[in-house]
Amino acid sequence: MKELTWVEVSKEALRHNIGEFRKIVGKDVILCPCVKANAYGHGLIETGKVFLESGADWLAVNSLYEAVSLREAKVSSPIYVLGYVPLADLAMVCELDLRIVVYDKETVEELGKIGKPVKIHLKIETGNNRQGILMDDLLDFAGFVSEFSNIEIEGVATHFANVEDTTDHSYAEKQLEKFNTAIERLEDAGFKIKLKHCANSAATILFRETHFNMVRPGIAAYGMWPSKETYISYLKDGGEGFKLMPAFTWKTRIAQIKTVAAGEYIGYGCTYKTGSEARLAILPIGYYDGYDRCVHGAYVLIRGKRAYVRGRVCMNIIMVDVSDIDGVELEDEVVLIGRDGEEFISAEDFGNFAGTINYEVTTRVNDRIKRIYN
Ligand SMILES: *Cc1c(COP(=O)(O)O)cnc(C)c1O
Repeated sequence: MKELTWVEVSKEALRHNIGEFRKIVGKDVILCPCVKANAYGHGLIETGKVFLESGADWLAVNSLYEAVSLREAKVSSPIYVLGYVPLADLAMVCELDLRIVVYDKETVEELGKIGKPVKIHLKIETGNNRQGILMDDLLDFAGFVSEFSNIEIEGVATHFANVEDTTDHSYAEKQLEKFNTAIERLEDAGFKIKLKHCANSAATILFRETHFNMVRPGIAAYGMWPSKETYISYLKDGGEGFKLMPAFTWKTRIAQIKTVAAGEYIGYGCTYKTGSEARLAILPIGYYDGYDRCVHGAYVLIRGKRAYVRGRVCMNIIMVDVSDIDGVELEDEVVLIGRDGEEFISAEDFGNFAGTINYEVTTRVNDRIKRIYN
């Protein structure tokens, strides 16, 4: 069947971005890109494989089902599970040789009962206040784990709350300080911790002291800057030479072209009224596909030109104005996100249309939509 909407993923861009990370972390740091959320919308399996072929060492997923998919696709690299694994599923962690992040005793107890060798990473609460073991409970927790001979504390981890949302990094510095204190306490108490990691994309790019011996970049591995603030901070610190290549292009085709008279309403709620006669292209995608219903001032690219969205985004359809574009034909390709000639709609631009961030934009493009790798 001919695809009506699809995502083109540039393997070259993915490879390039991993190469850029390798350059900044050096050869001895474990590069563990995050492929959660369907590899930020780029397709879990293919993207994971491209990352590993390009020099990544590990892959990080959120959920067990993602790890299962990777193993079923014969991915044999270490896989780190960032999210919660239900107690009932912990046996699979051992069977599939996964690393998991741990922050509650129930999980430790259950792993102890299973009795098979397993490597865990303790998540330390340093200020994000989502997952994590409180600093005051840390030694007690590690002591509890050491009662189970099959469980190895392979690593300790934390996660920054405020690196990419600001150019003021004092909160991140405090978190890093706490993380270092936590490591010190564990080591003073005789725990030998092989791996220490805390860096997401922004921290990896901006702060060498966050690399330790493993980094977990997500968004930037796909060629997107975590935020404008991160980019500005990078430039302000005299950064140069680190270049990202966006890998994601989302396309569709024109499903109808029609002329509507002046004074006609377009779409549900009659929110748009034509001021003069207009040519409309009807596109077969909508919020079901991940084209956000709340966009403002959004446009798509047709024949290298901007065509503005008119009226509300429907479930499976949007309408765009092609009055000023010559030669438009039925089934012409349309770029929703990505480059067309001189014009480029970045995921960040789309995020600005929709009042959200690039992360949400690519991850919400429906998984059902085919990813084509080139
Ligand atoms: C998603 C995630 C990352 C990657 O973050 P980016 O900002 O996309 O680089 C790193 N660590 C953890 C724990 C995460 O959940």
